[in-house]
Amino acid sequence: MTEKKDDLKREKWSKFCPKCGKQTDEFFDSMCKDCFKQGITLLAPERLVSVSVCPHCGGFFKGKERTSIEPAVETAVRKAIRKKYGAETPVEIAGLSVELAENKRSAHVSITVKAEISGVDIEETGVFTAALKRAICDRCSRIAGGYYAAIVQIRAEVRIPTDKELALAENIAHASLGESDFVSKERMLKEGLDIYVSSAEYGRRISRTVVKELGGSFSENKKLYGRKDGRDIYRVTFLVRLPGFKQGEVVKIGNKKILVEKVIERKGIEGVDLNTDEPVFVSKKEMMMAKILNPKY
Ligand SMILES: [Zn+2]
Ligand SMILES: [Zn+2]
Repeated sequence: MTEKKDDLKREKWSKFCPKCGKQTDEFFDSMCKDCFKQGITLLAPERLVSVSVCPHCGGFFKGKERTSIEPAVETAVRKAIRKKYGAETPVEIAGLSVELAENKRSAHVSITVKAEISGVDIEETGVFTAALKRAICDRCSRIAGGYYAAIVQIRAEVRIPTDKELALAENIAHASLGESDFVSKERMLKEGLDIYVSSAEYGRRISRTVVKELGGSFSENKKLYGRKDGRDIYRVTFLVRLPGFKQGEVVKIGNKKILVEKVIERKGIEGVDLNTDEPVFVSKKEMMMAKILNPKY
């Protein structure tokens, strides 16, 4: 009995780390703290950063989501550590710098990460090269295919929009581009301009802004275009009508200058020919050839 008691006593005084032989009272995974730390590798994310780069627009994508490399690296590192050491593991990215290779086929990453594992704070710095896949993004493949989901038609009430109005509408379209929007084509017509765009939402945004800037109103008309993946696909036409001539304005038709006195809706205008001082009636059809003198736009 006394012998056993001695053994227990001795054991208390002779706790050693089985790995390095150092005497210790604190054990982590039955090793001393240093050996435990040595056995931990936080960073091995070379294969985990799956970002693709679009050779057309140079954008970076994680699946279909547009991203930049930094958050993709952070997410991959966090995920890898939590997969290895538990979903609740506290992880902190303490430093990150990403340098893109000139050919955009890889990125040079240096990262410092901190994590708390079994109550031990671990910090690790690593440098690695992440290979980037090349894949044409949805937006670029749609552009290449001439895809459009909406048409914005710029017209004016009983007249033809001025060149300045059309130029402004064009500018508005390019200034209101969202991340995945694009203009697939523009068609100049004798009665105005048609802008073919990537989404109904984008078309609506253009129409709203044009009306806000130039006046008038717009209507939208949805037409079933086809079906894809069991869903109806619509194309939307936005008809923007800029305001017509107003009372007091002077318009030019051929070499006549006419002062607008009264606008008769859907019929034309009554006015005065400024060369002869004669009262004139100009039909809607003739008004389509009229140009405003000194237009604001
Ligand atoms: Zn040890
Ligand atoms: Zn692209």
